[in-house]
Amino acid sequence: MISGFKIITDLCDGMSNWMDEKGYKNIDDFVGLSVPKITRWEELDINFHIVANIDQDKCIHCGLCYISCEDTSHQSIAVEKGNPYNIYTIKEEECVGCNLCKIVCPVNDCITMVEQRKGDEYLNWIEYQKRGLPLNDH
Ligand code: SF4
Ligand code: SF4
Repeated sequence: MISGFKIITDLCDGMSNWMDEKGYKNIDDFVGLSVPKITRWEELDINFHIVANIDQDKCIHCGLCYISCEDTSHQSIAVEKGNPYNIYTIKEEECVGCNLCKIVCPVNDCITMVEQRKGDEYLNWIEYQKRGLPLNDH
């Protein structure tokens, strides 16, 4: 706990900023809004797939995306050691689209999430199994 109890103040400030951004005045304005969107995992579209993309023109080479993906996600960012700075690129075949790198990146719109569907049709897990498709297809 590097921040100690001060982290609570930061959390409250973050929540307050988010509410201002979204135009919410009270917590009751958004409590339960996500409930209608909850579904069973078997009904999710397994053809939906997104991957991260780094805009090399905006990147300041801080490495935060690399550290976060290495430590907490799928080790999907490659680093090319350089002087004076390293180059970071996404390993698209490894990326699971968790969004973590985008969240930690300090530069607006430097990392974007790009949709790369695995198929055009909506396909859920139940249908996928019925068709007897191979497990390593998705
Ligand atoms: S979206 Fe997730 S898995 Fe993909 S590069 Fe970013 S942190 Fe790694
Ligand atoms: S976190 Fe953003 S700015 Fe930093 S290296 Fe990654 S892409 Fe570049």
